Amino acid sequence: MHAWPPVFRPNFAFSGSYPHLSLFDSLKGAKIELPVRDPMTIYVCGITPYDATHIGHAATYLTFDLVHRYLLAAGHRVVFLENVTDIDDPLFERARRDGVKWKTLVDDQLRLFTSDMTNLRVLPPIELTSVTEAMEEIIAFVASLVAEGLTYSLGSELYLDARRVTDFGDLPLSIESAIAIFRERGGDPDRSGKRHPLDPVLWRPSAEDEPRWSTPFGEGRPGWHVECNAIARKIVEAASQNSLSLQGGGGDLIFPHHYMTELQSRARYDQPFSQVFAHAGMVKYQGEKMSKSLGNLVFVSKLLEDGVHPMAIRIALISGHYREEREWSDVLLGVGEKLVDDLLSLLSRELIPEYDYLISEIITSLADDLDTPRVLVLLQDYILRAMHDTQPSKNPGDLSRFLDAVLGVTL
Ligand code: ZN
Repeated sequence: MHAWPPVFRPNFAFSGSYPHLSLFDSLKGAKIELPVRDPMTIYVCGITPYDATHIGHAATYLTFDLVHRYLLAAGHRVVFLENVTDIDDPLFERARRDGVKWKTLVDDQLRLFTSDMTNLRVLPPIELTSVTEAMEEIIAFVASLVAEGLTYSLGSELYLDARRVTDFGDLPLSIESAIAIFRERGGDPDRSGKRHPLDPVLWRPSAEDEPRWSTPFGEGRPGWHVECNAIARKIVEAASQNSLSLQGGGGDLIFPHHYMTELQSRARYDQPFSQVFAHAGMVKYQGEKMSKSLGNLVFVSKLLEDGVHPMAIRIALISGHYREEREWSDVLLGVGEKLVDDLLSLLSRELIPEYDYLISEIITSLADDLDTPRVLVLLQDYILRAMHDTQPSKNPGDLSRFLDAVLGVTL
């Protein structure tokens, strides 16, 4: 399906060079340089559209928007794809509970999400691919695992026989924690007859009110992880590559989701799913993880309705480092609002102090695992300097265009 409308990205003059972008790889546990390829293929795990997207989701998509913008500014060709998990247990459960059709729920939530992304000026992916749209590729992916003899059936479910490709020594956490999290996030480690508790389900029967597809391995619907293998493969193959340049998402996807996509990719192609895996930390509110049950969700749409400048939200969210657990608060929003005001006043002047060094230092900071807290300090220091500068010499146009293109801050 179409993503949200294109976001204008201006050109600006910069004579310096762009360092290679380094990101912390959560599965390798180290900061590594994103290998340069043409194109850079980036896949971000998108939303499950059953509940309004909150500011924590926005923080994740802003993180990968900064990656996208940095690579484009550095002159790379980027193919950026995002999925929509429109087939999933929590979605069907919510639709049942609220007495609405699951498809209606999906459409309503997607409208809200794309409107938030547009308002925050997140560059759109080449498309948003939903599970229902990619069913042909998903079925082909599972069929090839079946043909390779890497699966087994238990009742009406089809599982990956994971031990054919791993002894689970590569888990990013202890086996006990992995089993506990797997159980919490919809896995079935306790089912008797499974060859290994962590074997992921590839295909399963649908409940009466759920959509279903006919396949040689039974009528039903796919398991969770397999969708991303199949959807991401489209851009990998189109680019004649073996794996993605980068897979991104929220930190709660490290396990099981990203671990399983990696496992399934090695099973099917004998190739890693991605060269780099990066994850955004959680945004808390009032000391707790945001959740509907706690009633502490903060919505982008609600803040905008209340008259908050979308760029203040954007700045507030990048004032902390993307990997760190952050706390949303009025103080944080205040930081964003103050910087928006200061930038508006700065950029409306006829002349401001020389800023080539500023652009260069912001670029260096972003290249170092998206050090946005440092970027904001650099900006605040420059604004302070500009206030006291008695001989400003430069038109602010290029700085304004740079902030727009690279930070996505449009004023
Ligand atoms: Zn995914």
